[in-house]
Amino acid sequence: MITFICTTCGTSYPPSDTPPARCPICEDERQYVPASGQSWTTPHQLQTHHTNAWRQHEKGLFSLHTTPAFAIDQRAFLLQTAAGNILWDCIALIDDATVELVGALGGLSAIAISHPHYYTRMQDWSRAFGGPPIYLHAADQQYIMRPTPEIHLWEGDTLEIASGVTLIRLGGHFAGGTVLHWACTEDGAGALLSGDIVQVASDVRRVSFLWSYPNMMPLPARAVLRIGEALTPWSFDRIYGAFLSKEVPRDAKQVVAGSVRRYVELLNG
Ligand SMILES: [Zn+2]
Ligand SMILES: [Zn+2]
Repeated sequence: MITFICTTCGTSYPPSDTPPARCPICEDERQYVPASGQSWTTPHQLQTHHTNAWRQHEKGLFSLHTTPAFAIDQRAFLLQTAAGNILWDCIALIDDATVELVGALGGLSAIAISHPHYYTRMQDWSRAFGGPPIYLHAADQQYIMRPTPEIHLWEGDTLEIASGVTLIRLGGHFAGGTVLHWACTEDGAGALLSGDIVQVASDVRRVSFLWSYPNMMPLPARAVLRIGEALTPWSFDRIYGAFLSKEVPRDAKQVVAGSVRRYVELLNG
C-alpha cells in the first residue's frame, strides 16, 4: 500500500495499491488539472528527487521550502514558542533529514494550516512527531482527503493555540481561510503568517486576495472588506506569505488597509 501524492497540489490520499482515479482538490475551480492529465508521485520518489531548505527569518521563526520546487511550491514555517514548536502550513516532503532537524529543535507541539491547498502530508508530519494536534477550520472539512484522528476541527473566528499565538479565520480564498497571528516576536511588534489568504504581492508593499490564484478569479468586495475588518484589532508589523521571499517587512497594518481599499475601488470601477 502506497500513500499517493498529487503532483499538482501535493495532497496525499489514503494508502492504496493503485493511484486514486482523480484529485478532487485539483478538480475544484480554485486549482486545475494540467493539460497533460492527472499525475501522482510517492513519498519515496519525492524524497529521492527533492530536499527541504531552511531559512531563519527572525528569532523563533524558520521556514522550510522544498527544492527543486514541488506542486504549489508553498513554504511551511516552524514557530518556536514557550509551549513548544508550531508548524504553520505544511509541505508534502517530510524526509529523514527534516525529521532529525525538527526533532533536534524540540519536535512539534501543534500543526495549523491556512487552507486545504496546504494540507499535503499533515498526517505524516503529525505522526513523525508523536501525534500533535492538527488545527483545521471546520468550514473546510469537506476538503480533507485523508482523515486522521490528529485533526482537530475548530469553529468560530479565532482560536488561541499557544500563549500569544492565535488563529484568525478570514475566509476569502476558502470559507475556513485562516492566518496565524504571532504576538510575541522578540521586538514585540507582532507578525502575521498569512499563507495565501492574505497574499503578499510582487511589490512587497502590497497584498492581494483572490478566489483562485491559478485561474485568476477575484473575490467579491464584501469578502475583502470583511478580511480587512477582521484584521483591524490585531497588531502586526510584518507579514510572512506562503511563497519564497514574499514578506512585507514593515508597516504591514497600513499595507493591508491600503490594499483592501484599492482592491474594492478597482472592483467597483
Ligand atoms: Zn491535486
Ligand atoms: Zn490556495
